[in-house]
Amino acid sequence: MSENPFFENWTTPFALPPFERIRPEHFPPAFDRAMAEHNAEIGAITGSAAAPTFANTLEALERSGRLLDRVSRVFFNLDASNTSDALEAIARDYAPKLAQHQTQIALDAALFARIAELYARRQTLGLAPDQLRLLERCHLRFVRSGALLRPEQKARMAAITERLATLHTLFGQNVLHDERDWQLVLDEADLDGLPDFARTAAAQAAKERAVEGRWVVTLARSSAEPFLTFSSRRDLRRRLWEAWTARGTHQGAHDNTPLIREIVALRAEQAQLLGYDNFAAYRLDDSMAKTADAVETLLQQVWAPAKAKAHEELVKLEKVARGEGLNEPIKPWDWRYYAEKVRQTEYDLDEAELKPYFVLDNMVEAAFDTARRLFGVTFTERSDLPVYHPDVRVWEVRDSVGNHVGLFLHDNFARPGKQSGAWSSRYRDQETLDGTVAPIVVNNNNFARGTPTLLSFDDAETLFHEFGHGLHSLLSRVRYRSQSGTAVRRDFVEFPSQILEHWMSAPETLRRYARHYETGQPMPEDLLGRLLAARTFNQGFETVELTGSALLDLDLHTEPSPQTLDLARFEREFLDRIGMPKEVGLRHRPAHFQHLFAGGGYAAGYYAYLWAEVLDADGYSAFMEAGDVFDHDLAERLKAIYRAGDTADPMELYRAFRGRDPNIAALLEQRGLTAAQ
Ligand SMILES: [Zn+2]
Repeated sequence: MSENPFFENWTTPFALPPFERIRPEHFPPAFDRAMAEHNAEIGAITGSAAAPTFANTLEALERSGRLLDRVSRVFFNLDASNTSDALEAIARDYAPKLAQHQTQIALDAALFARIAELYARRQTLGLAPDQLRLLERCHLRFVRSGALLRPEQKARMAAITERLATLHTLFGQNVLHDERDWQLVLDEADLDGLPDFARTAAAQAAKERAVEGRWVVTLARSSAEPFLTFSSRRDLRRRLWEAWTARGTHQGAHDNTPLIREIVALRAEQAQLLGYDNFAAYRLDDSMAKTADAVETLLQQVWAPAKAKAHEELVKLEKVARGEGLNEPIKPWDWRYYAEKVRQTEYDLDEAELKPYFVLDNMVEAAFDTARRLFGVTFTERSDLPVYHPDVRVWEVRDSVGNHVGLFLHDNFARPGKQSGAWSSRYRDQETLDGTVAPIVVNNNNFARGTPTLLSFDDAETLFHEFGHGLHSLLSRVRYRSQSGTAVRRDFVEFPSQILEHWMSAPETLRRYARHYETGQPMPEDLLGRLLAARTFNQGFETVELTGSALLDLDLHTEPSPQTLDLARFEREFLDRIGMPKEVGLRHRPAHFQHLFAGGGYAAGYYAYLWAEVLDADGYSAFMEAGDVFDHDLAERLKAIYRAGDTADPMELYRAFRGRDPNIAALLEQRGLTAAQ
């Protein structure tokens, strides 16, 4: 093990991880040594005879755990993007060890005593605003981890945290297992209704899964959704839908049902140890929203008009379905199919007509150009740098005067061994504490590969969304690593990503970058007009899906007796209580709701998408009011939010950008929900 790359200084360009040399067996010894080093660093802080100062305690904490950060970043990024049996086994082994390690530090009484002493004197320490916030948030983090508890409560807290880490890991692995395990194999006769791009993608998926000469649809969203939208084979749509919604529910070794009960009960117990009624109350206490009531109020403001709009949409769907000879009620596996037909008749808009204009590479260029025009950064491809998979492309990011800003990795294609969904992550965070550290950011998508790869409109929005998170990490200009980029409250973190989506559908962007993959011609004005006119189409359905998931999350995490939770019954009663339209159904059933259970980050936090949408809709309307979506002054004020990371209160940052508090009107309008109220 003398050649473990984690024990060397990386001499690769930009100190990018030397991916080609990193092997699974390097991780366990690297984790072990990194945790030991981290403990020694913490021991040096708490063992110091000197009275606590901001420098010898807070800044020393910021400097601690560097190796652990480096190893963890590489490991968890690779485990998410490009996993293997070996990495999965290490994840199962180390998730509880790492959780235990972090908990030990969070519950270290000597360390907390130093932080608490500084916190008590914080107004007299002569701290700069970012330092004061760092101290306040550090103190709060320790309190919220249980630093004020009695020793036996601390021990219980630690045991729960460790167990939760294992449960989260298993939950995600079970979903991945069910997704890998299942495929819909099609013969030529089963392709009815599928446009060319969907056939090409299905042929490609068949090749990747070694199903010769046939076609395969998988449970990756980019594979499943087009099939549900276009396949005229109702029997096959139903089979796909049933497999899609059954992920995580199969009895046996990969059943997530018992895991959910245990996770929800343990979270509730932690919250109660800390003096909260339930997990949602605990989680929301440290958010922009503050309380479950505030979240519920927002969700209810959207839920009623969303259901009303979905009902209007259903009536239209039924009319088309009757016309096509369907004499049964619309089912969830019918919605996308008939919605597409309505879209074709009402807006004369056809996904298959649009798709040739959304070439992946062009939309990537569009995203880079948007960043250049708004924020003055440029992207140059570096094909000379090491990557962990041939799909990955690397770009060097520079500012307007040519200074290096960071690296941006783009990993866009679905493949076995990659988590579903889309996400943005980092191999390194920006900071300047001991000299400038440039960020290394990665965006993951799960697009179905083609030649060229064509995106749906939603895919293109997702691309911009993750790129918005990426810019939040890249544009960060903070002193301390723990305030860097996306290290903001959960219900604020989706603002920089969601507001960027608006520039994808800006006519200026579409006119320039939505070009036909064969002719290179821009999208005809008439098609562009129809596309924009259809923006609020099917928004009843989509808002019901989104809001329903947020309500489900809130209900699960305010559940009064989680220890005896009967999940099947809970789900039934929940759907009844909120009046979920049965033709829509849940976007995420609990057993595969990875936001909630494959980690703790979005637990009692799924509402954050809608919360942030209030801000992004309201924020983008400022550009519309200015009459220029690249308005220089507004872009500068928006950039300040991306730069600030967690150095300031999010509502203050928003007010400084917008000049006033946000309001919900723009959200209701952009989803077409004003008329339905
Ligand atoms: Zn996001």
